[in-house]
Amino acid sequence: MKDSYSFDIDEAGLDVSFEAHRGAYERIFDRLGIPAIGVEASSGNMGGSDSVEFMCPSEAGEDMVARCGNCDYAANLEKATSALPAIEDGPGPAALERLPTPGVRTIDDLARQYGKPADRQIKTLVYVIDGQLTLVLLRGDHPLAEQKLADAAGVGDIRPAQADEIREALGASPGSLGAVAITGLPIIADLALQGRRNMTTGANVDDMHLTGVDVERDIPVGRWADLREVRAGEPCPRCGGLLEIIRAIEVGHIFKLGRKYTTVLGVSVLGPDGASIIPIMGSYGIGVERAMAVIAEVHHDDVGLTWPVQVAPAEVTVVLLSPQDEATAAAAESLYAQLQATGADVLLDDRDERPGVKYRDAELVGIPCRVSVGRRDLAEGMVEITSRATGEKERVPVEQAVKYVQEFLSARRAEAAAAGAP
Ligand SMILES: [Zn+2]
Repeated sequence: MKDSYSFDIDEAGLDVSFEAHRGAYERIFDRLGIPAIGVEASSGNMGGSDSVEFMCPSEAGEDMVARCGNCDYAANLEKATSALPAIEDGPGPAALERLPTPGVRTIDDLARQYGKPADRQIKTLVYVIDGQLTLVLLRGDHPLAEQKLADAAGVGDIRPAQADEIREALGASPGSLGAVAITGLPIIADLALQGRRNMTTGANVDDMHLTGVDVERDIPVGRWADLREVRAGEPCPRCGGLLEIIRAIEVGHIFKLGRKYTTVLGVSVLGPDGASIIPIMGSYGIGVERAMAVIAEVHHDDVGLTWPVQVAPAEVTVVLLSPQDEATAAAAESLYAQLQATGADVLLDDRDERPGVKYRDAELVGIPCRVSVGRRDLAEGMVEITSRATGEKERVPVEQAVKYVQEFLSARRAEAAAAGAP
């Protein structure tokens, strides 16, 4: 990791530091050839706010990102929200009713066998949050985003409760759980349940459900929070466009850390008026090895790597195709020396191998520019120059080869600098 931290005397200063880092990170990833997008994220266990992850879309990614097809909204699935249309329930029954549901264990069972659609059910999950058994409620068709629960609880230590813990506390097994008239256990509920009526939920008796549940009337919710994981096709919270969900690799993360660590470590500075101030921190990280892996993921084809010139381990490879031939070897070595003299980062492949082997290795390693020096071309005063990224080849007179390579490299470097320009 490359880590850095900023220290400011107030929030306004932190805002400036944070935006400076955001801009710097965008330019860094541009110049690395990584098409990263900044997405809203959870700060995770370290706490803090305004968390931005830099994500590179990739099928090889381990993170999921919700992204709007219409505006620039993007967020880690651990954090993403959507503008679901609210469901308006008519007035429900005046009282709860018990519904015997033998054998029903899932939301689907209840929907299919008893005609209670998933969006009219209350799903009751049981978590242990900081050692405390807690009921977590969601609409039946809404999955839980565990990180949102951890964020809402303000702790990193959460886990699903075990079956025996659940039975001991509620007297029933998963499949028949509910939060109606529960006392003594905290209840945290997803916002999509606010104001819902005529719902169905477990009765905390095996094979029994309750219908006609009015959430506000019947369930003592202690806390409302956004807990559900968004799904592809839901409306963007900013513009109403459709959200898509993509895989991505996290390459960087910046967030506002607050005063947690300066307080714990007893850091203080004197302000302009001589008063003691605890500085506020920002935290900024790039996964360096990960960045290299992502470059390989983004810049490759069927035969190997295609390094962008600005991060390639070498810029040019001179491939000597006829190492036994003295004149050809001398020409390749001369080109190698001349290219080095221009400041280019050059390799010379003078191994005693067949041309096919050398070409394959050059393609595998992915050096951006290849100069092939062979006896037959040389007899005509020519060498062949190939762009690894595009595969374009050009026969160039030997005496113009150095200039050609210089122009090739400076064009690639200019593209990279333009991508990373402020
Ligand atoms: Zn949008």
